[in-house]
Amino acid sequence: MKVKSAYAKYTRVANQRRLTGLDAARIILGPEGLDDVSIEGIPGQLTDHYDPRTKKLGLSAGVANQPSVASLAIVAHEIGHALQDNRGYAPLRLRGAIVPAVQVSAWVAPILFFIGFLLGATSLAWLGVILFALGAGFALITLPVEFDASRRGLRLLQTYRLTDGRELQGAKAVLDAAALTYVAALAQTLATLLYYVSLLTGFGRRD
Ligand SMILES: [Zn+2]
Repeated sequence: MKVKSAYAKYTRVANQRRLTGLDAARIILGPEGLDDVSIEGIPGQLTDHYDPRTKKLGLSAGVANQPSVASLAIVAHEIGHALQDNRGYAPLRLRGAIVPAVQVSAWVAPILFFIGFLLGATSLAWLGVILFALGAGFALITLPVEFDASRRGLRLLQTYRLTDGRELQGAKAVLDAAALTYVAALAQTLATLLYYVSLLTGFGRRD
């Protein structure tokens, strides 16, 4: 809710230079040495992302076409990811490397766990827990990646004079709110992991 409301607020605030997200991307990419990054329109809201495998910067219509403070913040953050990729930022590489394993474990782990748990096959259940922990590792490594992308993004907004002081504060508010979703995702994953462990060990059981 906080992400949506910060985004909604600064979507309505036009930036002084009347730059759309697309304008900002075009201004930043070349001078940062990111000529190999292509821009692509994508459906949805807050679906904006950078894909290191294809070097594509996917921008939603709201961000690409509206000259708002939120548009600048989000484009700058996503270009922050492109910079991480270009400069070989280690946490981004590590996250990319474990993505395939995490995608498989996300649906295999709960199945193994509950089959193992229900049949009393403890080692199978623990295998599920270990696989599930991979997802928690992914959520954890996502935090430095996201905070760093926002830091780089805010610096880009200043370097290319895309925002004035107040707008920069607004951009920071949008990105701080977005970062909260990743903290929440980590908390949720850890809570589930602890729940699995407590079921297996009987920890917290009152009998
Ligand atoms: Zn991000």
